[in-house]
Amino acid sequence: MKQDQAILVVGGAGYIGSHTVRQLIAKGRKVVVLDNLVYGHREALVDDGVIFVEGDLGDRDVLDRVFAAHDIAAVMHFAAFAYVGESVTEPAKYYHNNLAAPLVLLDAMRDHGCRIFIFSSTCATYGNPEYVPIDEQHPQNPINPYGAGKLMLERVLADYSHAYGLKYAALRYFNASGCSLDGKIGEDHNPETHLIPLVLEAAAGVRPHITVFGTDYPTPDGSCIRDYIHVDDLARAHILAIDKLDAGADSFQCNLGTGIGHSVKELIAAAEQVTGKSIPVVYGERRPGDPPELVAAPAKAKELLGWEAEYKDLEMILKTAWAWSNGPRKGHF
Ligand code: UDP
Repeated sequence: MKQDQAILVVGGAGYIGSHTVRQLIAKGRKVVVLDNLVYGHREALVDDGVIFVEGDLGDRDVLDRVFAAHDIAAVMHFAAFAYVGESVTEPAKYYHNNLAAPLVLLDAMRDHGCRIFIFSSTCATYGNPEYVPIDEQHPQNPINPYGAGKLMLERVLADYSHAYGLKYAALRYFNASGCSLDGKIGEDHNPETHLIPLVLEAAAGVRPHITVFGTDYPTPDGSCIRDYIHVDDLARAHILAIDKLDAGADSFQCNLGTGIGHSVKELIAAAEQVTGKSIPVVYGERRPGDPPELVAAPAKAKELLGWEAEYKDLEMILKTAWAWSNGPRKGHF
């Protein structure tokens, strides 16, 4: 990849995309962001030098214009819908945006001779774990349309790679969490359904309480266990993945997680420590579709990319999220 070639970041105004854009810019890379701003935020692009195009990844005319106007060496694709519950009630929305639209993007890449693709996949492609920690050999049997669509696109990528010479990395995230260390950008979903922002809203008194979804899971304290991986760690892995493929490596799939699990109850206790507030808790029913424990075996990412999580400490992750929720996000509550 030549220094003057650009990286197209689709969904670059979203949570993980915007953190990745900042790291790319910090490394002196040329960045073009394509985002339809349905869930993304224009103000999340805080750095000078980012070329922003408002548009949809399924719009072939926009894509043709972007590829014609810029010499794009690689594409990172973050522009998926990610509400698991909604994917069950509105599968059409998910298969259109998360599966059909990326096909238009992949075809545009093929036609414009762009060969490197970094895909935001997910641990939801594994479904209910047969064992933990989950390695990449674990069977992939997703239990909701969100995970199914992501797995289907992984399969598409394998076939495009074989037939058209596409080189891709499918990065299977565990629970993306935390916010930028300088507090400038962070997690801002609307509606918000994720545990950490909701717990912090309860700490701030913006919400009356946090509901723990299920206390009878087969885990030590009965609540679900997840692997919370800091968004800047995720972002760094994407850049390493591009460089790896650009240096000639074969396409690959790998987990991005810390390898450490924390229960919902542990996380709430850690949030009380970090915020110095007492957080009102309600113990509720299980949320349908939640596996008891999702923890990554992260060895493959280390072996392939030399990557491992830097922010393994949950309190550190919560501190960054708390700083953000008391900073720029405050006005959005
Ligand atoms: N969770 C919870 N209360 C909430 C939101 C989430 O107890 O209000 C739990 C959820 O059941 C899961 C964990 O927190 O075990 C993480 O959920 P989140 O929605 O943040 O991410 P997911 O694991 O679904 O990707």
